[in-house]
Amino acid sequence: MKYLSVKSKLNIEAQDGGFTTTFLGYCLESGILDAVVVVRDKNWKPIAYLATNTVELLESPKSKYSISPNNKLLEYATENYDKVGLVGLPCHILGGLQFDLALKVGLFCTKNFHYETIKNIIKERFGLDMDEVVKMNITKGKFVVETLKRTDLVHSEKVVYEIPIKEIEKFCNLGCRVCTDFSAKYADVSVGSVGSEDGWNTLIIRNKMVEDIINEMTEKGLIEVKETVDIKAVEKLENIKKKNEEINKCSAYFAVCPALF
Ligand SMILES: Cc1cc2nc3c(=O)[nH]c(=O)nc-3n(C[C@H](O)[C@H](O)[C@H](O)COP(=O)(O)OP(=O)(O)OC[C@H]3O[C@@H](n4cnc5c(N)ncnc54)[C@H](O)[C@@H]3O)c2cc1C
Ligand code: SF4
Repeated sequence: MKYLSVKSKLNIEAQDGGFTTTFLGYCLESGILDAVVVVRDKNWKPIAYLATNTVELLESPKSKYSISPNNKLLEYATENYDKVGLVGLPCHILGGLQFDLALKVGLFCTKNFHYETIKNIIKERFGLDMDEVVKMNITKGKFVVETLKRTDLVHSEKVVYEIPIKEIEKFCNLGCRVCTDFSAKYADVSVGSVGSEDGWNTLIIRNKMVEDIINEMTEKGLIEVKETVDIKAVEKLENIKKKNEEINKCSAYFAVCPALF
């Protein structure tokens, strides 16, 4: 297992360092993948789809903070393409293990929301409609939403709204409250932002196949790489989720023998 900070050298408007989109684009163009399950959106409502080339892939950057049914596409994808990739949250990657996938890219994840929930939070807390939002993020203990305000005919400026994540975490999906995996431990490579500078990605490279692809991409000048990850920051979030393992065990005992409690 190897940790790296990485940033794309391509001009892509992405969530963090743009590694995910650049990496998948390289895999599609070099024949490592025939198709990959990714997520675009309509007013930030996730729409899972199968990208077979870089033009299709470029509809997918940026994080959508609600559930996307990525794995529904895996049966069709693996029946119709030889080398299928999946990008997803740790729960998608776990579910994807039952398919023969060529590549699994996992995203770090602490929690997620139903679409209507996130829409209501954004309306009630910031007074914004979803079509005004240009970016969402959960970072450094805050839920952050960005919009663009037009200042004159040609210019617009970024407006940032934020609230502590503590104020909204109780509205997250029920499954997220018992989830034990922050860093997608079953992926070939895990990608997030925590542990690296703003505008960069943290990578956990979990096998030689991915290490080789990353070396090729670095040699070709597609990505910039640094060995400066704050691993403790990643481990801290992993450990918070691991505590749910104990809670889950208690719930299992309770389900089997409620009289004990
Ligand atoms: C719900 C959610 C919670 C996250 N929580 C954290 C966190 O707590 N800490 C942290 O460090 N990182 C977190 N991330 C990961 C982070 O937001 C970025 O996705 C990651 O750093 C990759 O950035 P990038 O610039 O390489 O992505 P980009 O190049 O912009 O690509 C984004 C990729 O994410 C995929 N995607 C977008 N939304 C979803 C979705 N809802 N479900 C599945 N796939 C999706 C797209 O298909 C695309 O391939 C979270 C992501 C999501 C979607
Ligand atoms: S917290 Fe866990 S269950 Fe919830 S979306 Fe993230 S990986 Fe899935």
